Amino acid sequence: MFDAIIIGRGPAGLSASLYTARAKLKTLIIGKNESVLRKAGKIENYFGFSNPVSGEFLLNEGEKQAKRFGVQIIDDEVIAIEKDDFFNVITSNGRYTGKAVLLATGQPQKKIKIENLTEFEGKGVSYCSTCDGFFYNNLKVGVLGFKDFAVHEAIELETYTDNITIYTNGRELELSEKYIEEAKRFKINKKTITKLGGSEFLQRIFFDDGTSEEIDGIFVAYESASSLDFARKLGILVDGNSVVVDRNQQTNLDGLFAAGDCTGGFKQVSTAVGQGTLAGRKMIEYIRSL
Ligand SMILES: Cc1cc2nc3c(=O)[nH]c(=O)nc-3n(C[C@H](O)[C@H](O)[C@H](O)COP(=O)(O)OP(=O)(O)OC[C@H]3O[C@@H](n4cnc5c(N)ncnc54)[C@H](O)[C@@H]3O)c2cc1C
Repeated sequence: MFDAIIIGRGPAGLSASLYTARAKLKTLIIGKNESVLRKAGKIENYFGFSNPVSGEFLLNEGEKQAKRFGVQIIDDEVIAIEKDDFFNVITSNGRYTGKAVLLATGQPQKKIKIENLTEFEGKGVSYCSTCDGFFYNNLKVGVLGFKDFAVHEAIELETYTDNITIYTNGRELELSEKYIEEAKRFKINKKTITKLGGSEFLQRIFFDDGTSEEIDGIFVAYESASSLDFARKLGILVDGNSVVVDRNQQTNLDGLFAAGDCTGGFKQVSTAVGQGTLAGRKMIEYIRSL
């Protein structure tokens, strides 16, 4: 059991960990090595550096600093977060329990462009199997995606139906070993999707080879899970693409905090560091209060 689990190893997540770890809380960071900061060749506006530094340099130093205080850093992808008495964080390769969780996953990327996808949102297109799976009892559903996240959604949907297809939209599956095995029991369709069709509700899915299939529901689980995907499942408030937090970086779910680009606002290293700092401080108070 960890005290603090931090999802994301960019400046927000790493800064938060410095505080929780120095307060002697058992801290785990889970993150892919893909902070947007790695793309920044030259940073000239971050306090304390009289000469430009690269994003890569800041991240590497930040990780070294966190490790010096005993933070455990795991290179893995989070595909789901569940809450019972504590938080269970499910990754491609494991499952971790923590008393408090920080979302520091950066800005959610715009993932997919398919004609009519947004038009059918709430009318056959869903972003949350936990929330909407129940409406598709014994119906034909699809999961749109090609990574572990998509297979995880398909597994959740098995509670309601056994007619499940994973639509990769022209991509090859990119699965970890565990999910390669799990994916074998689902139908996989690798054709490129051109559009969705139906009258009031979703009824058909169309492909670039001119073919189409009947479908009752599509669950979007494209690319990696983002803060928005976690928010939808946990029922926390979002505003557009941003997770809503109060002045203490706390979401509306006790013990769940968010910091950095995933909360919107001014997307800068200094902002992410500041929010991570505050989140770390407030996580300490929360964990000690339990
Ligand atoms: C080209 C470029 C140049 C920039 N230049 C500047 C600049 O000069 N000055 C400045 O202040 N800012 C700059 N920025 C902005 C700055 O990089 C961001 O504001 C900052 O990195 C945000 O930090 P963050 O920790 O919130 O998110 P990120 O740095 O994006 O980190 C998010 C972390 O979450 C991880 N993650 C996401 N989803 C998952 C998942 N499902 N499972 C596990 N891990 C996950 C990612 O892999 C990453 O480790 C620039 C950005 C870009 C793209």
